[in-house]
Amino acid sequence: MNCPKCNADLIKKYYKGMIEVDSCPNCRGMWLDFNELDKLEDVVFDDDAHKGSLVHFQSKTNYPCPQCGAGLDEFQYRLYDLRLDTCAENGHGFWLDAGEDERVMTLMRQRSADIQRKLDAEASWRQTLKGMHLFLTKKKN
Ligand SMILES: [Zn+2]
Ligand SMILES: [Zn+2]
Repeated sequence: MNCPKCNADLIKKYYKGMIEVDSCPNCRGMWLDFNELDKLEDVVFDDDAHKGSLVHFQSKTNYPCPQCGAGLDEFQYRLYDLRLDTCAENGHGFWLDAGEDERVMTLMRQRSADIQRKLDAEASWRQTLKGMHLFLTKKKN
């Protein structure tokens, strides 16, 4: 397979020792199979229900999918300020430019912290409601 951005030969490598990716030795981008982006996110945040939807504002590019040659689509990643490329035609996977993998990890780490804060807030609110309820029922008796 060739790099969609600079056409160099992609080489297999183990990203963080657990996800097999095809990486470009020249521009340092990497190709992730369709489910590998999810695996990458799961390293820091594995709560799929709270990730938000993945693809927004898709537009065609002239970069070829390394697997089938179809033009990749650029899209906004989960409404963050980050644009990734995907083989929308055949669902082969995602292209991440150099450094974009770290951006994905950082965004998911923030998301995870935000969700945790929200859950903590909800839990303490439930405790408050429970306390009020007990207080009110005691008063009635
Ligand atoms: Zn390249
Ligand atoms: Zn493809």
